[in-house]
Amino acid sequence: MKNKKLGLNTVCTHTGEVQDKQFKGAVSPLYMSSSYAFEDIDEKRYPRYFNTPNQQALSKKVAALEHTEAAMIFGSGMAAISTSLLAFLHKGDHIVLQNALYGGTMNLVLEEFDKYGIEYTFTKSLDIKDFKKAIQKNTKVIYIETPSNPLLKITDIRKIAKLAKKHNLVSMIDNTFASPVNQLPATMGIDIIIHSATKYFGGHSDILAGAVAASEAHMNRIFQLGKNLGGSLSDFTVWMLERSMKTLGIRVKEQNKNALKLASYLDKHPAVAKVYYPGLRSHEDYELAKSQMSGFGGMMSFELNPEYDVATFFKSLKLIKPSMSLAGVESTMLSPTQTSHALLTPEERKKQGIADGLIRFSVGIEERKDIIADIKQAIKKSKKK
Ligand SMILES: *Cc1c(COP(=O)(O)O)cnc(C)c1O
Repeated sequence: MKNKKLGLNTVCTHTGEVQDKQFKGAVSPLYMSSSYAFEDIDEKRYPRYFNTPNQQALSKKVAALEHTEAAMIFGSGMAAISTSLLAFLHKGDHIVLQNALYGGTMNLVLEEFDKYGIEYTFTKSLDIKDFKKAIQKNTKVIYIETPSNPLLKITDIRKIAKLAKKHNLVSMIDNTFASPVNQLPATMGIDIIIHSATKYFGGHSDILAGAVAASEAHMNRIFQLGKNLGGSLSDFTVWMLERSMKTLGIRVKEQNKNALKLASYLDKHPAVAKVYYPGLRSHEDYELAKSQMSGFGGMMSFELNPEYDVATFFKSLKLIKPSMSLAGVESTMLSPTQTSHALLTPEERKKQGIADGLIRFSVGIEERKDIIADIKQAIKKSKKK
């Protein structure tokens, strides 16, 4: 069966699966071998070479989902990001990165790149003009993340891809927040698509993994470094992830639906000062989001009015869990000021648009009325006296 012709949920359920010829089991058998007899000296199978049967099975599914020729599965999102970046950046090269990036990616650049002699510029804003301005003679890579964390800002994917092609740069996107259910960067000209598979791919808050999808040629460059850095994922977890991804489509579509309704609910709530969700018409990038996303995702942020106490709000939640991670089937919330952005000064946070009352909300698949009831009672309790 040709992947291109299969619909989303069929790809999620079947593409890549290993046929159990021996027992005709319904799912891919799990191959835990770290040693395989040579069939062909060029085809040495070894888990660190990303080529065990389960790794290849899941890679095919990810490639089909992202509409690329190939994909690789990594031990974490950061293993996927670091391997992809370093595969295309040598000493003396320069990279342009968008300014609002996942904290781990920022840390990788700020703490490690100097050591390798790699130069970098973070753009002033997500405006294409600022990307253009940041390009230098030695620029090799352009790196974006959209929607961004935690304010759900949108970068124009098509314009970035065009700019990269014009200057002969490799374009990379962190597609974690949207997932391929909602956004297909390869179809808009982006070269390399990266995921923290810990998030929507895994979806049940029990797997740490990463994935990269690209053309055969680009994947081969990443593989050459990947086998040396050694960031592959254990086959057992790969197998678990294949199982999780069978429901990626239905999970994310349900999360899209819940999030859109909850964003509208919060937007009208008198205790809420502002909602950041690209699916709301009031979002500054609504039109752009609509032009490049087929769904708006399960992530949003909102600000409580200053008359409400954020700490009390978090303590009062019963169903929704305060949590660092995101994208599970369960709804979670986090205060960037108290966690991911705690090390910044209030002024730095303000510069990034992160108010002290900001709450990041990862919407799960629970019944909407139950989520709303939980938020309602927690808001009520958090009103300052
Ligand atoms: C979590 C996350 C990462 C890092 O992934 P890990 O699996 O934790 O290594 C990268 N990008 C985004 C957008 C994330 O949310």
